[in-house]
Amino acid sequence: MQLIPGETLTIDRKARANSPFYDLELRPPEVRACDFEAVVIDFSPERAMAEASRCIHCPDPAPCMLACPTHNDIPSAMWLIEQGHFSEAANLYHQTSSLPEICGRVCPHEALCQGSCVLNKNHTPVLTGELESFAVDYQRRREGHAIPLAPPTGKRVAIIGAGPAGLGCADQLLQSGHEVTFFESKPSAGGLLVYGIPNFKLPKHVWMEKWEEFERAGVTFIPNTYIGKNKTIDDLFTDGFEAVFIGVGSGIDAKMEDTPGTDLPGVYEATDFLIRGNVDPSLLPTSMRQPLEVGKRVVVIGGGDTASDCLRTALRLGSEEVTCLYRRTEKEMPGGKKDRVMASEEGANYRFLTQPVKFLPGDDGKLAAVECLEMKLGEPDKKGRRKPVPVEGSNFIVECDTAVLALGYWPDPILGKTTPDLETHDWGLVTADKNTGITSRAGVFSGGDCVTGPDLVVTAMVAGRKAAWTIDEYLKTSSKP
Ligand SMILES: Cc1cc2nc3c(=O)[nH]c(=O)nc-3n(C[C@H](O)[C@H](O)[C@H](O)COP(=O)(O)OP(=O)(O)OC[C@H]3O[C@@H](n4cnc5c(N)ncnc54)[C@H](O)[C@@H]3O)c2cc1C
Ligand code: SF4
Repeated sequence: MQLIPGETLTIDRKARANSPFYDLELRPPEVRACDFEAVVIDFSPERAMAEASRCIHCPDPAPCMLACPTHNDIPSAMWLIEQGHFSEAANLYHQTSSLPEICGRVCPHEALCQGSCVLNKNHTPVLTGELESFAVDYQRRREGHAIPLAPPTGKRVAIIGAGPAGLGCADQLLQSGHEVTFFESKPSAGGLLVYGIPNFKLPKHVWMEKWEEFERAGVTFIPNTYIGKNKTIDDLFTDGFEAVFIGVGSGIDAKMEDTPGTDLPGVYEATDFLIRGNVDPSLLPTSMRQPLEVGKRVVVIGGGDTASDCLRTALRLGSEEVTCLYRRTEKEMPGGKKDRVMASEEGANYRFLTQPVKFLPGDDGKLAAVECLEMKLGEPDKKGRRKPVPVEGSNFIVECDTAVLALGYWPDPILGKTTPDLETHDWGLVTADKNTGITSRAGVFSGGDCVTGPDLVVTAMVAGRKAAWTIDEYLKTSSKP
C-alpha cells in the first residue's frame, strides 16, 4: 500500500506529463572510457526535485510499484523528493529494500519500474532508479543510516555467501534481533557487487559504505572460508548455528570445452578478467593478484551484459581495438541495449553471426588469433530463439592478443554433494521454495542466483529477505535440527 496514495493528491496530471524531460547526464564517452569512475553523473537536489515532480501519481497500486521486484513505494517517494524531503524518501526505500543505493544504480530500470511507468505511452518515463540512489545517498552523506536492530534473541544464523541474497537475508534477520555470521569464500563481502559488476556501473565506495552499515549492526564476517571445502553445513550446526541460509550465487564460468586453444596465455574467463581488471588487488584472493596482461586487440565472446562489461573494461584498460563476437544477430542478444549502446559509444565493435572455433597461438606461444566460422540463423528452438547454423567453409581469422569468454554461468554443485538431504537440480542449483526459501533439509534455507540461476541483484536480495522472514518463524518454533 502506498503511504501517499495518488487518489489523495490534487495535482494537474496533464501539466505534469507535458513538463520538460531532461535525460540523465553521462560523462562523455571519450572521457569516461579512460577511467573506471561512474558513468552517470549524480542528480543535484534541484534536478532530483524537478524530475520527481514529473510523476503523475497513478492510483494505488501504481504500476511501477508492482513491477519493482521489492515493491518500493515509488510514487510516495517521488512526492517526498519533489517536496525536498529526501531523507524521508530514503526511509521509505529502506523499508522495502536492503540495498536501495545499489539497486537504484544497477537494476535494469527500463525492464522494471521505469519500464512500467504509464508515461511511456506518450511521454518519457520518470527516472525512478536514479532518484532512489539520489535520496539514499543524500541521507547517508547528511545524517547517515543505521539498520534498525531489534532486541537480541540469542539465536545464531549462519549465512553462506555475502552477496545480495545473503545481505538481504542478514538485513531482515538483524531487524528481528538474530545474530548473523557470514561465511564467505572471498576476502571481502559483496559477492558480484564487488567481484563482478564493474566500478563504472557501481563505484566500490558505494558498496563499502553499505557494508559498513552491516558491520556497525554487529554481523560477524568470516572470509576466505569455502563451505563444502573448509567446513560443511553439518559443521555449522555442530558449531551451534540454529539455521543456515545458502546464498552462494551461480558463479562458475561456462567453458568452451570443445574449442581448441582456450588454455593459451591471453584467453581469460569473464570473471577472472573483470575481477582482476576492476578490483583493488588488496581485495583479491592471493591467487588472483598477478596483473592482467591485456593486449591492444581484444575480442570478447558472448552477447549478455557480462560481455558488455568486459568490452568496456578492456577499453578502460587501454586496448585499442575491442570487438564482441556473437553467434546470432543483435536482435537475439540477451544483454540490455543500454549497456550495448554505451559500449559502442566508448569504442567497442560488434561482429555478429560469428562463432569462434579455434584459438591460435603465435610464435611466442601466446594467443595471436581466433579462427571463426560465419553463422546463419536456422529454425527457432523450443524457446523461440533461432538456432545459429555454421556456413560450411566460411572459416576466417580474427587477429587478437586477448580473448575473454563471457558465455554465462553455472552453479557450483559442492553444497549439494557435501550436505546430506539437500536436494539440488540442473547441475547444482539448490531446490528451494521461491517464496519462503525452504529447502529439503530442515533448518537450511536458500535464495538468489544459486536457486534461480543467474538473475539480478534486486531479485537475489528479495529472495534473501523472504527467506529471513521464514527463518524468523522457524527460530520461534523449532528446537535445533
Ligand atoms: C559481470 C556481471 C555483471 C552484472 N551486472 C548486473 C547489473 O548491472 N544489474 C543487476 O541487477 N545484476 C547484475 N548482475 C547479476 C547480479 O550480480 C547477480 O544476480 C547477484 O549478484 C546474485 O546475488 P547472489 O547473492 O545470489 O550471488 P553472488 O552475488 O554471486 O554472491 C554469492 C557469494 O557467495 C560466495 N560463495 C560462493 N560459494 C561459496 C561457498 N561454497 N562458501 C562460501 N561462500 C561462497 C561468493 O564468493 C559470493 O560472494 C551481474 C552479474 C555479473 C556476473
Ligand atoms: S529496486 Fe530496482 S526495480 Fe525497484 S524501484 Fe529500485 S531501481 Fe526500480
